[in-house]
Parts: sequence; structure tokens; C-alpha cells
Amino acid sequence: MSNKITIAGAGLVGSLEAIYLAKRGHEVEVFERRSDMRNAKMLAGRSINLALSVRGWTALKAIGVDKEVEKMAIPMYKRVMHGVDGILTDQQYGQDGEAIYSVSRGGLNLLLLNLADQQENVTIKFDHKCLDVDLQTATAFFENKDGEEVKVESDRIIGADGAYSAIRSKMMRQDRFQYSQNFIEHGYKELTIPANEDGSYKLEKNALHIWPRGNFMLIALPNLDGSFTCTLFFPYDGEYSFNNLKTDDQILNFFKEVFPDTLDLIPDILQDYKTNKTSSLSIMRCDPWTVSDKVLLIGDAAHATVPFYGQGMNAGFEGCYVLDQLMAKHGDDWLSCFNEYSEIRKPDGDGLQDLSMHNFIVMRDKTADSNFLLQKKIELHFSKKHPKKWLPLYSMVSFSNIRYSQAWQIGLKQEKLMEKIMEVPDIDKKWDSSEVENMMLDLID
Ligand SMILES: Cc1cc2nc3c(=O)[nH]c(=O)nc-3n(C[C@H](O)[C@H](O)[C@H](O)COP(=O)(O)OP(=O)(O)OC[C@H]3O[C@@H](n4cnc5c(N)ncnc54)[C@H](O)[C@@H]3O)c2cc1C
Repeated sequence: MSNKITIAGAGLVGSLEAIYLAKRGHEVEVFERRSDMRNAKMLAGRSINLALSVRGWTALKAIGVDKEVEKMAIPMYKRVMHGVDGILTDQQYGQDGEAIYSVSRGGLNLLLLNLADQQENVTIKFDHKCLDVDLQTATAFFENKDGEEVKVESDRIIGADGAYSAIRSKMMRQDRFQYSQNFIEHGYKELTIPANEDGSYKLEKNALHIWPRGNFMLIALPNLDGSFTCTLFFPYDGEYSFNNLKTDDQILNFFKEVFPDTLDLIPDILQDYKTNKTSSLSIMRCDPWTVSDKVLLIGDAAHATVPFYGQGMNAGFEGCYVLDQLMAKHGDDWLSCFNEYSEIRKPDGDGLQDLSMHNFIVMRDKTADSNFLLQKKIELHFSKKHPKKWLPLYSMVSFSNIRYSQAWQIGLKQEKLMEKIMEVPDIDKKWDSSEVENMMLDLID
């Protein structure tokens, strides 16, 4: 039976969810705090990109938008590590042909928003900020751009209003609702490597570039126009920190000393550094994600995480896909649908967040460690020979739809096993030998 459903937030996840609900025949109204991003002013500005991987593709494919997204996606088959000495090393992400994809955040949001808008049964209202919600009756209250209150009654509300969700804030006032918010000691700042004058790329295009520096790092993802968007993940405090890099000299000396090859790559480094804002990073956990059969949180509103596995959006998209499957399973029984959603997705949200923090250490620190790179090479080699026995953690997260919670548990076990393998004398010489292969087979069984 068709329901009237209110979605708060027309970001990446809210827009995709609107398409999913429309395809199931529901009447959907989406309310977005910001102005319509399709107007020219909103489209101007820096390009910011995201890594899209298999979970995201699965959700896009299920509603037939993957082909459109492919047109704006750049495959990244490997990581390229930039040493302080200028030496480049690389590490393939998966098996041959497997890649994560760099896509423009604004471009993808726009595409999904347009597709949602094209559905007959979707209405999108911009400049509507959710202020309050009656959780028992699924009534939401918005403020429009004239400062007027707009009351919206519906059968159900989906909170897709991001990390600082107003819907979740209201849920927090319920008895026994669990919530935690942890800001990590690092923030981030975006910088740009522009294209060469002829539009070509200054760095290898089909790769994610990393400058791992122990406690912090710089990364760069390619854009379609030949530029790269870089993100500096950096502590707020300490010797090397945002709070300690203030003057032009301090900033320039820091880049000269720590990321020397970027001085040529980022001609406006000083300008970029000083004008682009520093943003914080946090993990937000809450439980439960639903209120009876009336309200459900999705995307960052439910499981905001730090971006180091490039999975926040992918997880949000996967959430839309899982919810759709549960709708098909439970039909008009929304209570069972919402309950099962919470039951399945909450552990996966936790898994996603644990994985995200784990990968920060891998990226900023381990990718500069030759032992770690060797370990990953052994895993990939073994996995090629025994794909049913071993899928490396990165592949489980980025190239499969294995649940995050499961991937994390398997990954922890693999790590223990690999500790033993890495202790084998002369492992660097015999990493692809049958001795090592047999040892791994014995340890697995
Ligand atoms: C630096 C960085 C890099 C990242 N890289 C990746 C990556 O490579 N891959 C990946 O998968 N993920 C990545 N992520 C995570 C990804 O950006 C988020 O997980 C994703 O944007 C979540 O989508 P969402 O729709 O849930 O929330 P959002 O994108 O935050 O959208 C929420 C929407 O709700 C609106 N809204 C907010 N409050 C209200 C309100 N009160 N009323 C009405 N509307 C409201 C907002 O304006 C917004 O449009 C990254 C995040 C960061 C910070």
C-alpha cells in the first residue's frame, strides 16, 4: 500500500532513498535545508570527490543509475605512495581490474537529486530546515526561508539529514536512547593540484595518491578536469599541527620539509592552505535507529564516521538497498521492516566505524612500511590462488558486499594469522613459495 513518506535531507543518501521509495510506489516529500544546488551559484566552487566502491555500485545498479554514474567515475586501481625522498611505491588495491572510483560529490548529488525529481511521486522542497519532529505521529516541523513554520504529517519519516541530524537530536530525548560522539584529534583541509595547461594530469590519473607521514597524511583523488583534490589529515595540536602552522613561513617550510614534491604540484599552496577551512572529524554512534514503525535514520544520521576507508557514502547507499529489500520482504508490515533494519544495520554501522579508524592507521603509517606492503602482497597472492579461503580485508570492504561487521571480525583473525607468517625467516625472499602457501593453509584450517 502506498504510504506518504517524509525524508529530511536531500544529500547523497536522502536523494537515493527518495528514488528507491518512489519506485516502490510511495508518495515522497523531501525537505532540504539548503537552497536548490542546481542554481548556478551553488554549482560553482572547488570540486570535492569521494571514492565509490562495490557496495555503493550495488545500490546504484539496483535502481538502474550505475551507467549514468560510470560516466563521471575515474577508476583508481592502486595506491601510489609518495616518500619524503620523492620515491614512489605502489600497491594494487585488489585483483586485476578491481578499482575504487573517484566521483565528484556535487556531481553525484546533483544526478541523484535530478533523478529523484523526475519521479512523478517525489516532491523536493529546498530551504526547509527540520526543526522538530513528533516521533509518535511522524509529524515534522520545518522552517522555510521566510522563517515560517511548516507542519508536515505523514505515515513515516526517514532521517537522512546527515551527521548533525535534527531527527536524531529529537530521538536522543527518549528514555534509554544511546548516543556517543567522538571527535578524533585530527581535522582535515582540502587543497587542489590543478591540471596542466593542456588539461592533462600532473600525477598518474588512475590511482589514489598518498603521502603517508606517520601521525598524519595527505591524499589526492583525481577529478575529470585533470585536477586532483587533496586532503590533508592533520592533528589540531602538537608539533606538526594546524594550530602550529600559522605564518606563511611556517606553512611553506612545513610543506618543503614534509611534502617536498607538492610545492610544484600545488602552485597556490599558501593561498589554499590559508583560505580553505579546517574541518573536524568524528564518529557518531546511536541506538536504536528507529522509533516504532514511524521514524528511521539512514546514512550519516545513523552512522557518521571518519572518512579513512572511503565508506561513509557507500554504507549509506548500502543502507538504502538493504531497506528496500526488507520492504519487499515485509510488505505493509513496517514495524517488522524497521525492526529488522535496525537489527541488521546497527552492527554493520559499528563495524564500518571500527574499520574506518583502523584504516587511518594503515594509510597514514603502515603504507610507508615495507613489511606491511609485503604482507598485503602475500595476502593478495594467496587470495588469487585460494579465493574461497582468503579475501583480504580491503577487498572484503571495498570489493564485496560482505557485511561490515563480518569483514571486521574476519579481518582481525587474518591479522593474527599474518603475524605468524611475517615471522617466517627470509619471508621477503620466499613470500610466494609453496612453503608459505602451505603454512597459510594449515593455519586457516
Ligand atoms: C573529508 C571526507 C571525505 C569523505 N570521503 C568519502 C569517500 O571517499 N567515500 C565514501 O563513501 N564516503 C566518504 N565520506 C563520507 C560521506 O561524505 C558521507 O558518508 C555522506 O555524505 C553521507 O551522506 P548523507 O546523505 O547521509 O549525509 P550528507 O551528505 O551530510 O547529507 C545530509 C543532507 O541533509 C541536509 N540537512 C541537514 N540538516 C538538515 C535539517 N535540519 N533539515 C533539512 N535538511 C537538513 C544537509 O544540507 C544535506 O544536504 C567522506 C566524508 C568526508 C568528511
